Amino acid sequence: MKKLILFICISLFSGFSNAQNYWQQEVNYTISVKLDDINNSISGYEEFEYINNSPNDLNEIYIHLWPNAYRNGKTALAKQQYEGGQTTLKFGDDADKGGIDSLDFKINGIKVNWEFDPLNIDICILYLSTPLKSGDRFSVSTPFKVKLPSGSISRLGHVGQSYQITQWYPKPAVYDKNGWNQMPYLNQGEFYSEYGSFDVSITLPKNYIVGATGDLQTQTEIEFLNSKAEETNKKLSDYLSQAQGRKGKTDFPPSDSEFKTIRYTQSKVHDFAWFADKRFAVLKGEVTLPESNRLVTTWAMFVPHNALTWQHAIEYINDGTYFYSLWNGDYPYNNVTAIDGTISAGGGMEYPNVTVIGNASSKEELEVVIVHEVGHNWFYGILGSNERVHGWMDEGMNTLNEVRYIQTKYPDNQRMSDMVLGGRFHFNDLEHHDMGDISYRMTAVLGEDQPLETHSAEFSSLNYGIIMYQKTGLVFYYLKDYLGEELFGKCMHAYFEEWKFKHPQPEDMKATLERASGKDLSWLFGDLIQTCNHVDYKLKKVKTSEEGTLVTVKNVGQVNGPIEVNVFKNGEIVETQWAEPSEKKSTLSLSTKDADEVRIDATKDIPEMYRGNNNWHSKGMLGKLEPIKFEFLVGDNEATKNNLFWSPIIAGNMYDKFMVGAVVHNNGIPFNRFQFLIAPMYSFGRQMVSGIGEFSYTCLPKKYIKISRFGVSIKSFKMDSSSTIRKNDGTYLAIAPYWNVKIGNRTNSPFSQNFTLQGIGKYDFYDSLKTDYIGGFAKYAIDFTRPDHQVHFALRTDLIKAQDAELARVNVDASYKFRYLRNKMKRWVEVRGFIGNTYNLKLLQATNTYRYSMSLSGSDGAQDLFFEDYYFGRNANTGIWSQQRDENMGGFKSTSRYGTTTHFMATGNLMATGNLYLQLPIPKMSIVGLFADFGAFSNGTSVNSAINTGVGIRLAKVFAIYFPVWMSKELNDSFGTSNYARKVRFTLKMNIVNKGLKLNSLLN
Ligand SMILES: [Zn+2]
Repeated sequence: MKKLILFICISLFSGFSNAQNYWQQEVNYTISVKLDDINNSISGYEEFEYINNSPNDLNEIYIHLWPNAYRNGKTALAKQQYEGGQTTLKFGDDADKGGIDSLDFKINGIKVNWEFDPLNIDICILYLSTPLKSGDRFSVSTPFKVKLPSGSISRLGHVGQSYQITQWYPKPAVYDKNGWNQMPYLNQGEFYSEYGSFDVSITLPKNYIVGATGDLQTQTEIEFLNSKAEETNKKLSDYLSQAQGRKGKTDFPPSDSEFKTIRYTQSKVHDFAWFADKRFAVLKGEVTLPESNRLVTTWAMFVPHNALTWQHAIEYINDGTYFYSLWNGDYPYNNVTAIDGTISAGGGMEYPNVTVIGNASSKEELEVVIVHEVGHNWFYGILGSNERVHGWMDEGMNTLNEVRYIQTKYPDNQRMSDMVLGGRFHFNDLEHHDMGDISYRMTAVLGEDQPLETHSAEFSSLNYGIIMYQKTGLVFYYLKDYLGEELFGKCMHAYFEEWKFKHPQPEDMKATLERASGKDLSWLFGDLIQTCNHVDYKLKKVKTSEEGTLVTVKNVGQVNGPIEVNVFKNGEIVETQWAEPSEKKSTLSLSTKDADEVRIDATKDIPEMYRGNNNWHSKGMLGKLEPIKFEFLVGDNEATKNNLFWSPIIAGNMYDKFMVGAVVHNNGIPFNRFQFLIAPMYSFGRQMVSGIGEFSYTCLPKKYIKISRFGVSIKSFKMDSSSTIRKNDGTYLAIAPYWNVKIGNRTNSPFSQNFTLQGIGKYDFYDSLKTDYIGGFAKYAIDFTRPDHQVHFALRTDLIKAQDAELARVNVDASYKFRYLRNKMKRWVEVRGFIGNTYNLKLLQATNTYRYSMSLSGSDGAQDLFFEDYYFGRNANTGIWSQQRDENMGGFKSTSRYGTTTHFMATGNLMATGNLYLQLPIPKMSIVGLFADFGAFSNGTSVNSAINTGVGIRLAKVFAIYFPVWMSKELNDSFGTSNYARKVRFTLKMNIVNKGLKLNSLLN
């Protein structure tokens, strides 16, 4: 009890003290800049006044020189892009790179000592000869010249003569209560800048159309833009019909030989960006703000060939500006501009007053992107959080508003259903909100999510989009639903008023929202933002009586949040009540009599992991069971249905011949905890049913383990060519129970670890299911994956008990892949080593079947004792299917039975092999490679060895064929034939296809 009181005191105290002791620096810029559109560069002169409002004296100032991020392959941007597979900065042409130079910093007119940050050339440090005292100010000036990089790299640059001038001038880093926040420019990871004013004069050829931050001060340019807007109005129908007829792209007209200088000013912003293009058509509009009734001018500038998507852009900008103002607070500036640009950092990018939009494929997509980017004027522009460290505070809050916008403007929206293959599959009635919901739950059920409060650079690129954007949107949507529109609106307005033009930290946001709502929101700011804890509530008990309905809900997840309960009558919600945040059970008393259905969160407003336990019915044909939904192929898992999917399947192998059947599964999106897939098929060879079955259950532990899955795989096929007169002769049933865990915490670490325990029982169908053998293996594998090198290491031990053998095997399998050509060709070389030993536990009748081999070809299925793969001729000794081999054990690319360690029926069981594979540096022919295999094995008395070399053709991961060129004599002799074709081997990894079918590939 004391603890709790103390906690409340601290949180109240810190909440108020934050606001009271808050300070921030101020930077006021005057910049003049000139565009050179022949050499694609800008040169300018900058002067800024720096006001030290902090309580500390400053001895140095950190300055961002972000154009230098594009200078070479060693910058933080280059490294981040390289890891994501984009190599322009690392290996591309110098012509595409950029940078800033001609710097000469002066403070109050006197040269200052400065140097580049030793780690990042896009940051520099000015050393002050006398400290800047708390409360004092000074003026910093420098000339600068920027070589503009290719616009295909990131956010600054040019595409032809279309200019995107962003993060372009020397700019002090933020100094706040945490000290200096200097940071290199990154693609994944945004900004944090000081507020102040801008006075920017841009000189460029007269016929450029410019969209920029701030209010345009040049009268002639205002008239020029107005005339452009009139011209666009007149020509719009021409543009539309040209775009419809796909008349090609609009060409750049020649640049005017005369120059113009245009001037923009703005205060209370933290950045200035400008965009220039000679081709732009201009739309102009205005919107009345909901609270102040003030008029804001809106602009859309686009290339005429994009007229079809852009024709209604003003409507999107106006509506976005209106709704964000309504929900958060009125837009405080005079202009909003959206620019049609070709940028590579996502679908669009925000700057104060001006946003740049990437290529949109449809009007709908353009509307979402424009509204999102315009919305950043609030969550980034006005509320200037540290996006690099707390990205959810801008992207996530913005996603919430974007989702609200679509729901408000298009209440019948089914955007997600429409987007998934044109609505042909069964993603029923899914709207914009559900896209985030399903993406988040899908990532979470695979154990791949990371906490919202993760540094931008440490997010995996998947989570940067799905978790930081979408999950935050869902979490605050949950809060909105819990507080109700009115109270939530009050909270957001309080946050806006208290923190506009400032740098709110997460604790500031929490304090404001808690004060405004009167609620303890630690379940949200703690569990949902700081951790990956899952929300899962269960409808425990429903009791209806004359007095009403008693509903007991249980928190079976890890987040102690509020729970919404909806009571239904005849399919309509008649009553809703919230259970306040609780760790365990809560019982709600609702007044509805004879309710026929009760659901937790029927409207899907809570980011719940599993919705299958949310429902209760009073009656129905199936009693308590949900009705079955049976759909073709795949679809979404609806909370109120038993979702089943089916499709026909055909298959075949040498012995079953042609097979035809059906796949039935419950792997709808997002996945259930319990998953199954059965595929019974009629085998024309066996004249009976063959097929596979998969059953698994997934758990998501909180720590150290990302995902844990128990399951069983069942296969039954015919495996040799015994006669079909005796039914089921030569057919097997293989049952493999397994437990697989992905070890590790939720980070973007390049390491991944897996542990698998798997059993096997192989039974003979003909012989009344007599046991052929049983066994099991334990395998630990670790993988390290980087863009240019990959390490794999696995330790595995097998136990096998058969009638004629009882043995244990232990092996280490390690490989190193290295991208030896790192330019556009990206060729790999792969080195692999295998060492294994077999231990006879009981010497029975000696057999090769269960021992390591350099490589077998299906025969006896000896390389696949655990039925991990598929063979068309599992037991074939002749014919094409006998030449299918597996990529395991010794890894020899072509081999006969030579090299089975007990080939000579001796007791020595040690085998060691090495494999080399090199993709040839032939342009566009990455499928061709050279291989070399080396191996040795002991037969107890002597050591035998073999060498095999040749040419391989590898098609994706599924198929490869290997042609031997030269092999050592014993190996060659062991084929017992001079027929070259018999020595060619191939792999056909049906397992990959099958894993895809099971949708388990992320686990394995
Ligand atoms: Zn955004």
